[in-house]
Amino acid sequence: MPIRTSQKASLFGESVIREMTRLFLARGDKPGVNLAQGFPDFPAPLAMKEAACRAIMNDVNQYAVTWGARSLRHAIADKTARFYGDRPDPEREITVACGATEAMMAALMAVVDPGDEVIVFEPFYENYGPDAILSGATPRFVTLHEPDWSFDLAELTAAFNDNTRAIIINTPNNPTGKVFTREELTQIADLCQKWDVTAITDEIYEHMVYEGPHIRIADLPGMRERTITISGLSKTYSATGWRIGWLIAPPEATNAIRKVHDFLTVGAAAPLQEGAALALTFPDEYYTRLTNLYREKRDFMANVLRETGFQVYDPHGAYYIMTDIGGLGWDNDIAFTHWLIETHGVAVVPGSSFYRDPALGRTKVRFCYCKKPETLETAAKLLRGLRGG
Ligand code: PLP
Repeated sequence: MPIRTSQKASLFGESVIREMTRLFLARGDKPGVNLAQGFPDFPAPLAMKEAACRAIMNDVNQYAVTWGARSLRHAIADKTARFYGDRPDPEREITVACGATEAMMAALMAVVDPGDEVIVFEPFYENYGPDAILSGATPRFVTLHEPDWSFDLAELTAAFNDNTRAIIINTPNNPTGKVFTREELTQIADLCQKWDVTAITDEIYEHMVYEGPHIRIADLPGMRERTITISGLSKTYSATGWRIGWLIAPPEATNAIRKVHDFLTVGAAAPLQEGAALALTFPDEYYTRLTNLYREKRDFMANVLRETGFQVYDPHGAYYIMTDIGGLGWDNDIAFTHWLIETHGVAVVPGSSFYRDPALGRTKVRFCYCKKPETLETAAKLLRGLRGG
């Protein structure tokens, strides 16, 4: 008899993004570029790597404090104060987790009960739906409408009710590149306060903002005490494989988050936390350079895609471009992405994977551009081939 698997696990499929990467790798040595999964193909900062190596050589090899090495929690507090003017208490308000991914899971498990509803904007980062389900909650989706990915306030208002426990906000946003405005965040904040709802914000792209500013909902009046802010090392320091993220939350929520986190994973890799602690002390120029670098990549890719016949929704932040393939004569994103890998060697993500109702993403595909200039040049060459069929 096969092992009986859980109902929960049957409620969602495997990650489409990783499936695209697998299809890409299956092509072997044929020329191609993977613009599906959002990881940089260039090195992480040397000083950060050296600090982690030093930690290993100094025998930082055992469990760190469960909720994060002291050095890293203090570095997170200092950096938060530097950029946003509010210093969370490293002893009572900060938890280090295994990436923003675990952070989101721990946050949801700490605040929601079975039967609760969690509001998720779509198109969404593909983890949020399964995260809500795994935590026992029911996801409730509110659509961000192109071309500017704004929400309809009436639709958002209608999603709140007595069962709503949390709302997930991802700004800057994957996959759309949307940066939520102060006005939008204020509308969300008002609803959170009216319905006593926790805002869980994923701000992993906080330093990739081209048309900003980046606003933390935690900094709006009345929101510090009802917001869990998540960020991490993966994107800002080009180290997605290090698996280090963190949560900033008021003390009572942090207590619950730390308990869940302890039993989920015990803790993030101890020596890598020391590398992360150093990275967070990088001067302001590091972040300015990073933003400028990504702005150039965005402009380059957006131009290539436009020239090639894609409709481009200009991203204001993060490192993805959502496009529409209708103008290229396609009306099936899945068929298009498979065709693009097979015939042109470019892996991208079908838009339907970002929606609860796949029909909403049928003519969309997402490109990521967190790649070396030469990788993007190769992608441009391959994509220009589309013009020739
Ligand atoms: N949140 C968003 C919005 C993402 O796009 C990603 C990665 O693509 C993550 C979280 C994953 O973060 P981490 O590597 O810290 O788990």
